[in-house]
Amino acid sequence: MDKQIRTVAIFFAVVYAICACNSLFAQDNANVFDKIVIDAGHGGNKPGAIGSKYKEKDVTLAVAIKLGKLINENLKSVKVYYTRVIDQDVDLYKRSSIANRINADLFLSIHCNSAVTKAAGGTETYAMGLGKTESNLEVAKKENAEILTESNSIQNYQGFDMNSPESDILFSLYQNAYLNKSLDFAAKIQEQYQTNVPFKNRGVHQANFVVLWKAAMPAVLTEIGFISNPKEEEFIGSEYGQWVIASCIFRAICNYRNKTDNLNDPIPTLEQLIPKDVLAKEKLRKENETLQQELLAKQQQEDSVKNASAQDTPQTPAQAPTPQNTSLVIYRIQFMSSPDKISVSDKRFEDLEDIFSYQEKNTWKYTAGIFATQKEALAYQKKVKEKYSDAFVVAFYNGKRITIVEAQRLQKNN
Ligand SMILES: [Zn+2]
Repeated sequence: MDKQIRTVAIFFAVVYAICACNSLFAQDNANVFDKIVIDAGHGGNKPGAIGSKYKEKDVTLAVAIKLGKLINENLKSVKVYYTRVIDQDVDLYKRSSIANRINADLFLSIHCNSAVTKAAGGTETYAMGLGKTESNLEVAKKENAEILTESNSIQNYQGFDMNSPESDILFSLYQNAYLNKSLDFAAKIQEQYQTNVPFKNRGVHQANFVVLWKAAMPAVLTEIGFISNPKEEEFIGSEYGQWVIASCIFRAICNYRNKTDNLNDPIPTLEQLIPKDVLAKEKLRKENETLQQELLAKQQQEDSVKNASAQDTPQTPAQAPTPQNTSLVIYRIQFMSSPDKISVSDKRFEDLEDIFSYQEKNTWKYTAGIFATQKEALAYQKKVKEKYSDAFVVAFYNGKRITIVEAQRLQKNN
């Protein structure tokens, strides 16, 4: 064979081999769960539902970023895409088209619920489909309302009208191919919430969400709690609560991937997923909450004894409960004092965390933060000083104010 022809032949053989290999990999990858799109609901000038302290758009973004971090660190073969990573307005139709463009294996939209009654609460996860109950329709209507403020909504949503029944038929033509997988993933998310989130499990539902409409892959919308419910707002607004929610969704993704890819990969526990400092702080907060309740009960019992003896009734001394955590030293930042008692949920305190008040003589003192060490407290003091320049570190032992020197001595002895 002529040398030139041989070179050309070898060249084509190599090119063919590379192509064959590539198509083999491409085929493999197409069947493997390796791309997920995380959609933080709302953003920019569309805040979503507004609670007394937090806005939906900020909570959803914080959870989305935490979830992405968990996937990047613990599921290295899965690539994470976001519809937004900053406080930015993204049209609803663009969110799923991002997922379609990269051929994602899963689309997850994160939202917070809200209701007029403060008592309404719980988590729920949706797949596309006809909303069967009034409350499901209401949730979809609220989340879809955003398109009313988007430009070109007529073209982008093909004349979709939230209030017309024909729109339901338009919707039902889509998504069916992925419905079973979407429902399966939704159920896995709710299973995790049920075990790990302290809210009611409202279950898996179907309703027509514009954001899921054209996703050409299994797609769900999860409502992580009610921002209108003070207890739930506190949880989903807190670092700890957001890590719990993100870890639940992460574990559901692992479960789903194990099933679709026929794997048996171990799934980390919440303890392993949530950062150590966040867990430690939550433990401290809980211990302190118990302590405060015990002290309050003791105070009430002492008061009732005083009142009873004032009325001169024969009385056996009441047994006051003893605080359980006898070695608990905590640090807080004191930033304000007032002759009046101010509610800890007062608007003035909204930038600060873990507000706690106590009375000394006739003055109410207000503190923020809970810390196990003076060092952590000093770091937080800097933040508090931005607004309250006189803020300083105070220490407590079993709920009673002590000096910093005493606190350090107690901690040394332990
Ligand atoms: Zn929403």
